[in-house]
Amino acid sequence: MTAFRYDINRPMKVLLVEDDELLGAGILDALERARYTVEWVRDGMQALTALRGGGVDIAVLDLGLPRLDGMDVLRRAREAGVVTPVLVLSARDTTAQRIGGLDAGADDYLVKPFDLDELLARLRVLERRTRGSVSNLIRYGTIALDTSGLTVSHDERPVELQRREFMVLRRLLENIGHVMSRQQLVENIYGWDSELESNALDVHIHNLRKKFYPELIRTVRGVGYVIDPLPVARQG
Ligand code: CA
Repeated sequence: MTAFRYDINRPMKVLLVEDDELLGAGILDALERARYTVEWVRDGMQALTALRGGGVDIAVLDLGLPRLDGMDVLRRAREAGVVTPVLVLSARDTTAQRIGGLDAGADDYLVKPFDLDELLARLRVLERRTRGSVSNLIRYGTIALDTSGLTVSHDERPVELQRREFMVLRRLLENIGHVMSRQQLVENIYGWDSELESNALDVHIHNLRKKFYPELIRTVRGVGYVIDPLPVARQG
């Protein structure tokens, strides 16, 4: 399996697996209106191929399918190491079936007939989960900041930061191109009512520039600090 880094601006790609033309067209329309990129396949073998091929962010999977049953698609995809979140659509509304689907690796289960708005709401939950699990890493040129591990690297080498330096850098990186006022940054590291600690901010900024490079953080006189967006050519 190829791991790929998630780009927050890229539309989510949904694999729609539904052999019922009318229902499939309805779901396709709803998904496209919700700005998803959709690949629609109508049988189980195509579904398995698409899932194993990678690049799918979320799958909406019907169970009663030609060529390969949806439950088998799911089981075989999971066995092959596919971790894509799968929302199962099914007319089989018994508890046993539902448990079977979840056991086979479904992330959610919607019983037909269902409301399209509910389908979209469930997808948003899966989407948040997907984005959350992979968006821990903030990359800026040669700098990579991992918000879950609280680590930072520069040119693939770890950089030792004090906790407060980390917090300042994180806040600035999360707001690329937006000037953060001194007050915002100070509150971020010391909490409210932190007038007295304001000078320490300059020390943190000084240290960050020294540990990375001087132009990383730009001073906006009388306002605060900003990390500017990278020129396109230097990105990546
Ligand atoms: Ca069907």
